[in-house]
Amino acid sequence: LRLHHRWFHRHNRFLGSPIFAQYEAQSQGEQQLPEYFNFASDVLDKWSQIEKEGKRPSNPALWWINGRGGEVRWSFEELGVLSRKVANMLSNQCGLCKGDRVLVILPRIPEWWLVTMACIRTGIILMPGISQLTAKDIQHRLQASKAKCIITTDAVAPAVDSIAGSCNFLQTKLVVSEGPREGWLNFKELCKEAPDSHACVRTKIHDPMVIYFTSGTTGAPKMAEHSQGSLGFRPIAHKRYWLDLTPADIMWSTADTGWVVASLGSVFEPWALGSCVFIHSLQQIESTIILNTLSRFPITTILGPPTLFRMLAQSDLTSYKFMSLQYCLSGGEPLNPEVMEQWKSMTGLQIYDLYGQTETGMICAVKKGMKIKPGSMGKACAPYQVEVIDEEANVLPPGKEGEIGIRVKPQRPLGFFSRYVDNPEKTAATVRGDFYLTGDRGLIDKDGYFWFIGRADDVINSSGYRIGPFEIESALLEHPAVAEAAAVSSPDPLRGEVVKAFVVLSPAYTLQDKAKLTLQLQEHVKKVTAPYKYPRKMEFVKELPKTVTGKIRRNELRNQEWGRV
Ligand code: ATP
Ligand code: MG
Repeated sequence: LRLHHRWFHRHNRFLGSPIFAQYEAQSQGEQQLPEYFNFASDVLDKWSQIEKEGKRPSNPALWWINGRGGEVRWSFEELGVLSRKVANMLSNQCGLCKGDRVLVILPRIPEWWLVTMACIRTGIILMPGISQLTAKDIQHRLQASKAKCIITTDAVAPAVDSIAGSCNFLQTKLVVSEGPREGWLNFKELCKEAPDSHACVRTKIHDPMVIYFTSGTTGAPKMAEHSQGSLGFRPIAHKRYWLDLTPADIMWSTADTGWVVASLGSVFEPWALGSCVFIHSLQQIESTIILNTLSRFPITTILGPPTLFRMLAQSDLTSYKFMSLQYCLSGGEPLNPEVMEQWKSMTGLQIYDLYGQTETGMICAVKKGMKIKPGSMGKACAPYQVEVIDEEANVLPPGKEGEIGIRVKPQRPLGFFSRYVDNPEKTAATVRGDFYLTGDRGLIDKDGYFWFIGRADDVINSSGYRIGPFEIESALLEHPAVAEAAAVSSPDPLRGEVVKAFVVLSPAYTLQDKAKLTLQLQEHVKKVTAPYKYPRKMEFVKELPKTVTGKIRRNELRNQEWGRV
């Protein structure tokens, strides 16, 4: 495999040429976007052809394991055949048409990838949801989206049944299950009978393709709609705008299927470049499962949230030897330099930070070959022009803190969501002057690297000083006593607000005297940041509140401090 890998790197520019060549003008910025685009027919089926001609290594397109002996390896050809069957099933048995919406709540099972591609083939709008949704969440999503169909498993089906009566748009329920279920169509049975020839619909590049719910870190999740082109055409027009994969690469993203990262890391990016998508069903996210998988399978690239790397860095990594791992990517939350350093010293590998949003896909990245500045999110990803701006949407010079914005005038660049569904006010509120507002604060240095300070709402204002939580948390993490930390504002009669740190202790420190530890940690932060920034309040906790995607919910801690519910 390693030999293979080298060969393909050298001959890379010839590979996939039928896919990329036709869009050469667009990628040079010389031509408008094509009017029509469909990822299934224009990319997936083309790779199937390239594979048939023997011009792709024998890697599967999808390689799935469940850790209990179950395994699936599908070529692009097999993926094509199976997703056409599912496309027929959605159109015929489920009666869905182009533009209809379907809520898909599936764990990391191969059927999710089939449904995703089948929706693209039929123009049905996919709405992925995470498996932890409650009956009430599901009801809200079905009603808010007017979804006609839901696809899920036995685990979630009872919750759906408990609310389905009140969902007046819902017509069809489809269950991925070994056995029958009253009132539900059976996915596997229908799939077996469905014909495997299907004519892919023609979709305009701006037609809607998928609706994502944002993570809900700061409030109720928003429904962000993406077009056929925004996620799927960007890696074609701007090849390697953040990932530099070849068809010999095997990429594993641990993200839940309900999160935009699953689409970026396990569908569009790797398949655009003809790479293999590796998936572990990950019923539990445990260090030993992740480490064993990296040791036993020739995975070249892993993508996970910083929480994952923080968790792995707590284990003894010396007893593992990763088979082919070269490239570790972290995204979704700020990546603390300390974690990068621990990982590097234990595995010899760097962690590359990625910064993006459900609404925008990738905004900044530390790309392969780029100089790594620990604590920075790297540089802007094509075609985005990213700037730090002030309250009047003026571009700020390097070194000045402000809000991170993306230029959207005169034209919204490729990659953007189209809108928040049924919420024109909220959609309009994301634009200030010529810029889309990320809602995040940061700064840019003279080399064009971006540095994250915090979500605009998370920045702490103490006696007139603005303090970013990321810097405080990173400083705390450098101390051996700290496993995880969150810094938020807390009321103070004198200063208005002060920094309060919530700290999860490393196992070796849990029995130590808390008053002493508090003083030590405060001294430490004063020393590595600046005296005025240290957390005047500190609380030791067993765990931090997080979203199901593993993001720290600072707003929950903040509300608690300020007595807001
Ligand atoms: P909601 O908008 O519903 O409150 P959310 O913003 O967490 O939730 P996502 O779209 O999943 O929903 O996450 C995008 C946000 O995650 C970014 O705006 C940023 O605050 C944070 N983020 C993502 N990647 C990074 C990174 N590499 N460094 C720092 N922050 C990051
Ligand atoms: Mg957000």
